[in-house]
Amino acid sequence: MKTILVTGGAGYIGSHACKALAQAGYLPVTYDNLITGWQDAVQFGPFEQGDLLDRDRLDEVFAKHKPDAVMHFAALSQVGDAMRQPGLYWSNNVTGSLTLIEAAVAAGCLDFVFSSTCATYGEHDNVVLDESTAQYPLNAYGASKRAIEDILKDFEAAHGLRHVIFRYFNVAGADPEGDVGEFHRPETHLIPLMLDAIDGKREGLTVFGTDYDTPDGTCIRDYVHVCDLVDAHILGLGWLEQSKDSRVFNLGTGSGFSVLEVIEQSKSVTNRSVPYTVGPRRAGDCTKLVSGSVRAENELGWKPKRSTLGTMVADAWRWHQNGHYEK
Ligand code: UDP
Repeated sequence: MKTILVTGGAGYIGSHACKALAQAGYLPVTYDNLITGWQDAVQFGPFEQGDLLDRDRLDEVFAKHKPDAVMHFAALSQVGDAMRQPGLYWSNNVTGSLTLIEAAVAAGCLDFVFSSTCATYGEHDNVVLDESTAQYPLNAYGASKRAIEDILKDFEAAHGLRHVIFRYFNVAGADPEGDVGEFHRPETHLIPLMLDAIDGKREGLTVFGTDYDTPDGTCIRDYVHVCDLVDAHILGLGWLEQSKDSRVFNLGTGSGFSVLEVIEQSKSVTNRSVPYTVGPRRAGDCTKLVSGSVRAENELGWKPKRSTLGTMVADAWRWHQNGHYEK
């Protein structure tokens, strides 16, 4: 059985990845500092608590588990936060990832799957966002992820670190079996905040800006189901196992939905109204981020199964009503 070191395995996407890895016959070893993750979410393999910036701890974990590959999810990932505290993002995301990458190379673990983001593209007028689109991130979150992509390329050239980079669009939904789900502290993402507003856990939702150059004035995003997203990661491991080159893949569906369209969809899934007010734009937000690429479908054979907006909101709603972590 192959062992995969999963950084951020106690977080939203990492925990879903661990479940998918275990189901595909891998042993996922979670490495997480539990600052934003949940120990209760670690259910599918061993847990090692540690920080990306702690090289000694990383060396210890590589020596103990001898992973065949790394899946690197651990990161700070909030756009608003990144605008206020860029230093934190450069330190945790970039220096932390560099420390991890150096530890992997030193341990001879040379297959690496990295979670990057469409936020690396930034604002582009009427351009289809595919993997060759120029990257001009608008915030320190996107900039930190782009920098890590550059580090991976340099380490491939110097040390043979083969990598698959996935640029995620907006990840949504939850495990339909309810084992794991989305539970951030603090929560900043649209769909869980909206579900909180629907069932009265918070007063209401603020729509960040209705003066964008879009049909209804609100930002447009491409939502992809977390289970489909992690399926692509299993295919990415297979890609590396077949000794193929390093490659970048967008993970989105190609369909964009505005904030108001997501609100409408949530009304029909939950049969409840969504209390919201309109507020100012959130600094660092792009007008529209929609994937224009079918590379993951063509080259990895990726087929999203649950990524319709209705299914994503329904799965998120089920988790929202029944699932949570204690610690
Ligand atoms: N959004 C919003 N109100 C909120 C949270 C998010 O209007 O309370 C908007 C945000 O401006 C963006 C979209 O919803 O256009 C998705 O934001 P989210 O934070 O979920 O993901 P991001 O696009 O930042 O990765």
